Amino acid sequence: MSREPKVYLVGAGPGDPELLTVKARRLLGEADVVVYDRLVSEDVLALIPPGTARIDVGKQPKNHPYPQREINALLVSLAKSGKRQVVRLKGGDPLIFGRGSEELLALAAHGIACEVVPGVTAASGCAARLGIPLTHRGLASGVRYVTGHCRDDADLDFDWQGLADPETTLVIYMGKANIDRIAARVMAHGLDPATPVVAVCNGTTAAERHLFANLGNVAKMTESAGFEGPLLFIVGRAVNVAQALRGQPGDTDDCESVRQARVG
Ligand code: SAH
Repeated sequence: MSREPKVYLVGAGPGDPELLTVKARRLLGEADVVVYDRLVSEDVLALIPPGTARIDVGKQPKNHPYPQREINALLVSLAKSGKRQVVRLKGGDPLIFGRGSEELLALAAHGIACEVVPGVTAASGCAARLGIPLTHRGLASGVRYVTGHCRDDADLDFDWQGLADPETTLVIYMGKANIDRIAARVMAHGLDPATPVVAVCNGTTAAERHLFANLGNVAKMTESAGFEGPLLFIVGRAVNVAQALRGQPGDTDDCESVRQARVG
């Protein structure tokens, strides 16, 4: 039995264990060791067999007890120390704002085989749960994922004009600390303050909370909501489809499919 060691970079999805891929589920059952992050939900961790070694490399924002280079080195050493099947489990999709690509490069530099197993990213999971289409004919012809977190409190460095596009759904990951600045800047670049926004916390889990707001009031509303846990913002007219599904009026009345779908 001299199989080459392999590291699987596996997406754990946004929280609901039923959103794992069949492949992720199988690999969790077969792994010699599972290295996981803070964002991986308890319900997903519960699927790891009791006898399997697990290593928590969870990080707190602004306080990184486990630096990325140490995580990279840990994966390399696990693979070299005879673990045949290492599962590196990351929240959502491993290659979306997850630094998974840095781990991939580190493993490649040591000639260690690695396979990426995609996961449902928070944007898809949260949007689906609420009935928000990230694209919708006549409302959003594209979608853009950005991170609202910046390194060492540096200024947010975005193409603000590009972000302030009413035809594109904007999804902001890690935006909790900076949503006031982001909202102000896109409004300054022309996006209507009435543009609908939804803030989703702990999306797809039993602890999910969300609020519907608009660009003009989202920062205040989010602050008073006191969300605890990962928080995602979805900005754009397509958010109103969720309202239409609930029979509530919105500013999407010029969109034929929304008008037809509206109940009552
Ligand atoms: N790789 C992950 C994202 C990692 S960045 C993915 O593809 O989803 C971490 C950010 O993701 C959080 O700050 C939050 O903005 C978002 N996020 C992850 N899980 C979430 C959830 N269940 N609900 C809301 N936001 C979530």
